[in-house]
Amino acid sequence: MKRILVFLSCALALFAHPVTEKVWEESRVFYDYLAENGIDPLILHDLDDETFGSLKTILAKTPFYEQRDKDSGRLLHALIPIGEDRQISLYDKKGSYRIEIVPTRYAVVTEKLNAKIQNSLQQDLLQIVGNSRLSMELTAIYETRVDFRRDLQKNDRVAAIYERKIRMGRTWGAITVKAAFIEMRKRRIYAVYRAEDGSYYDDRGETLANLFLKYPLQFTKITSDYQPNGRVHPILGALRPHLGVDFGAPKGTPVVSVADGTVRFRGCQKSCDQGYGNIVIVEHRNGWETRYAHLNGFASGVSSGSRVRQGQTIGYVGQTGIATGMHLHFEVRKSGETTNPLSLRNARQNELSGEELKKFLADVKEAQNLLDYMADVSENSVSRLSSVSRSSNPIN
Ligand SMILES: [Zn+2]
Repeated sequence: MKRILVFLSCALALFAHPVTEKVWEESRVFYDYLAENGIDPLILHDLDDETFGSLKTILAKTPFYEQRDKDSGRLLHALIPIGEDRQISLYDKKGSYRIEIVPTRYAVVTEKLNAKIQNSLQQDLLQIVGNSRLSMELTAIYETRVDFRRDLQKNDRVAAIYERKIRMGRTWGAITVKAAFIEMRKRRIYAVYRAEDGSYYDDRGETLANLFLKYPLQFTKITSDYQPNGRVHPILGALRPHLGVDFGAPKGTPVVSVADGTVRFRGCQKSCDQGYGNIVIVEHRNGWETRYAHLNGFASGVSSGSRVRQGQTIGYVGQTGIATGMHLHFEVRKSGETTNPLSLRNARQNELSGEELKKFLADVKEAQNLLDYMADVSENSVSRLSSVSRSSNPIN
């Protein structure tokens, strides 16, 4: 009963005095705002340091709410956000103004999006969802796996489960993508959020934070490190730089491309008895290039100009060219400069293994089912999965 009364009084108050949305002007300080409204700035003296400090953190162009007396226009209540979860409440209490920091009230909704690409991810999602935040989030999550301008084509699909906050009927603050897939020519790349570390992983438990797979093959041992300043060459004897890493592995071990890309070269560069022997050079996004040398042979379908996917077998370990034993010589270049493939590996974070991986893959399965469900039949839709309402009325 008490709740109903509170609700009624709020509703009546809203009826009596209109609430309007304003935008905080760029160079405005809180002091000015008080002056604009004829409020004595002396009320600032009564504030504790923390509250006073908060008044300086209002971001320019923040939308905020004002309730004014419908006859006199006098400010009755203002709610000005500072960050996503707190707001300044400036209100009239029996003729004198008070300032408090209070929690922001919003509803949290979980929604599912299904979309079939017609123009671009940005344009299409803007049309379906009504704002650009979701496409911005997805673009950031998939940065290492999808080239949105080149890879994504008409009739490819996107599905996402995400959480957003709603304040006064509008999206408020950041959107959190919980799980998603992007389907390019029938191949789905999943991204599932892992709350424990705040990162996204695919359905194999590989992090999406990295462009490259950890290794291009299953190897027995690293037989030679990256030594750009030179090492004594095991066959030639002379001091030569070693611009890649050698992975020892049995003949015929499959070698995979560590990232999506285009094969720039496949074959022997000079002669098959010299240098790197059979080599595959793959070009990736953003000026990255990887080289796989001394191969025994190439996988079918891999030729100059063909597109390869991350994890796709491109060749097999051998000993062609000048090599002391069965191994893969693996090189990574960025804009033409070689770099240590193993330090790239060290830069990797959030690798899952053992129980952690097992538990996460179970969560992935669940998310996949939810994403896949209806994705093929429902084109361009947003459906509400759940809603937790904290209050739809910001002024109460
Ligand atoms: Zn080597």
